[in-house]
Amino acid sequence: MKDRFNRNITYLRISVTDRCNLRCTYCMPENGVECLTHSDLLTFEEIADFTKCAVSLGINKVRLTGGEPLVRKGITDLVRMIWNIEGVKDLSMTTNAVLLKQFAAQLKEAGLKRLNISLDTVDRDKFIQISRRDLLPDVLEGIDEAINCGFDKIKLNCVVEKNRNEPNALAVAEYAGSKELDVRFIRTMNLDTGEFWVVDGGIGGDCSICNRIRLSAKGDVLPCLFSDIGFSVREFGACEAIKMAVESKPQKGTLSRSHEFYNVGG
Ligand code: SF4
Repeated sequence: MKDRFNRNITYLRISVTDRCNLRCTYCMPENGVECLTHSDLLTFEEIADFTKCAVSLGINKVRLTGGEPLVRKGITDLVRMIWNIEGVKDLSMTTNAVLLKQFAAQLKEAGLKRLNISLDTVDRDKFIQISRRDLLPDVLEGIDEAINCGFDKIKLNCVVEKNRNEPNALAVAEYAGSKELDVRFIRTMNLDTGEFWVVDGGIGGDCSICNRIRLSAKGDVLPCLFSDIGFSVREFGACEAIKMAVESKPQKGTLSRSHEFYNVGG
């Protein structure tokens, strides 16, 4: 499906939860947030039905995000349900890898193709400063397990203040090189003020070629991260909500006062 600016919308990012096992300073308050109730969250059946509808309208690439998707109970079942949808050509996940050692093999077996792993530093103290949790060893073990399980497409997402020449970013790039992994640098974004940049090493943030829509954890179809437009799947139905979202997709992002990174999946 094409939007009003002739962009081909083929990519769906699905936030499966607003919960996370980290408290990154640029994403979540220290004490966490009041999370959605279980009944607020879309069920796996609702997400799968939504994805079937999205595929029928031209989506072929799906990414699972959060919060942290691996904290959602039964996540490998959802991966299997989505990969079994005819027309899904690519299925990936963005994770902080804290639980990846436990899940990597199951996710691969269920059909997951690619992983983007959030890693802002390889220094343990700085990791604690950024994420407010002492879990870097778990993350690094998770990355090794994903490599051992044969995930061939693993990319590291490194959040930077300004650019890839910052000490943390240089160390993450060196670590990535030692593991033969790709790394992308994502400059810290601000939804309230509308500050965002094109991802260094990716295409995210380039509005001129934007091919994505999002499904939030509570079931709103969002045409753009930096906009407050959203259509409830439970109110309008999956296909109608998608069509309305694509028809109202802005030419470029401005700002959002209603979204948070942890409930729309960045
Ligand atoms: S700001 Fe909106 S239009 Fe621009 S790249 Fe992000 S989602 Fe696409």
